[in-house]
Amino acid sequence: MSHLSLHHITKAWGEKIALDDISFDAAEGSFVALLGPSGCGKSTLLRTIAGLETADRGTIHFKHADITDLPPSQRKLSMVFQSYALFPHLNVRENLLFGLKARGEDKLHFAARLAEVSKLMELDKLLERLPSQLSGGQQQRVALGRAVIANNTLCLMDEPLSNLDAKLRQSMRREIRALQKKLGLTMLYVTHDQTEAMSMADSIILLNDGHIEQHGTPDDLYNNPASIFAAQFIGAPPMNILPLQRKDAQHYLSHLTAPVVEYRDTTLSLGLRAEDIQLIALEHAALTARVISSEYMGSDTLLVCELAGMPEPLTVKVPGMQHIADGSEVGLQWSAARQYLFFSDSGKRCVAAEQHMFVSQKKYAV
Ligand code: ADP
Ligand code: MG
Repeated sequence: MSHLSLHHITKAWGEKIALDDISFDAAEGSFVALLGPSGCGKSTLLRTIAGLETADRGTIHFKHADITDLPPSQRKLSMVFQSYALFPHLNVRENLLFGLKARGEDKLHFAARLAEVSKLMELDKLLERLPSQLSGGQQQRVALGRAVIANNTLCLMDEPLSNLDAKLRQSMRREIRALQKKLGLTMLYVTHDQTEAMSMADSIILLNDGHIEQHGTPDDLYNNPASIFAAQFIGAPPMNILPLQRKDAQHYLSHLTAPVVEYRDTTLSLGLRAEDIQLIALEHAALTARVISSEYMGSDTLLVCELAGMPEPLTVKVPGMQHIADGSEVGLQWSAARQYLFFSDSGKRCVAAEQHMFVSQKKYAV
């Protein structure tokens, strides 16, 4: 059952269209990541759902009620911001209770809720401390505690971990995910970090310049990208995009003599993930490239290669540490099943062309 539904939400700041016809449903108890580069409209979208901004057009439904015109206080949702803004002069207890007091809720319930939430967030020994006497992770837990103490089932978070160092961020991701599952929260979680979205979310809404580029599971976005934008935003390094040369309806890659695909009058690009390409001995390779540089990452090595006739270098991810001198020729192969085709002009995926890929390419794609 859909818990939260947006229909055609549109919002402009002057000339700038920040939200361009946004529609989606979020299921009850699901973790939905709003992912996209800086300035694509993530915060505007979250603030519009919270009622802190007003949409120019469109409707928002929550639990079957139209909340489009309700003030924030009546929307029954909690929000955690990037700068989680604890009150510096209030101790942990007072920070946790602030929202309940401000909303004039029944004092009789305070003690029980406080005990429950402070135990859940492991803050029960820290209630008398001021924010300045807490570590970054503990401050973050107070901010999360403030969001869950109100007992709302919908929780909105806007890049809540961006002020934390990498190690703490990793452990807080797990804490937030565990908390969301334990309390059955419906979570809308804004991030620009694709690994955060991939590792935490049930579904990802990928935003690009105010519109939804793709909405799907992490697996969909990685294995079934709808566009070059999605293919390059999800996964690291970004997917290699190789423009193909067209002669009539045949599309050729680099110096290969066999065409990759026969498809009508359009310009296509081949998409290949770095991790789907393998090195093979030169004498068995139909396709060769020159290594420009290599980057050792610990568990694997990224080889940046030059492919004849290609404007951009090709990145290949090989396992472990591989010593390959800059300037060496290497042989490349990949599985035909791991090839993607996109329209070069629109950047959209061209699934129809993928169905016409040549079997003969198996000479270099195995
Ligand atoms: P994100 O959170 O994805 O970085 P935002 O939602 O903050 O993006 O911004 C989306 C676009 O709207 C940007 O171009 C930004 O400059 C613009 N914008 C955001 N808030 C305002 C505002 N209060 N006034 C004018 N323009 C704004
Ligand atoms: Mg933002």
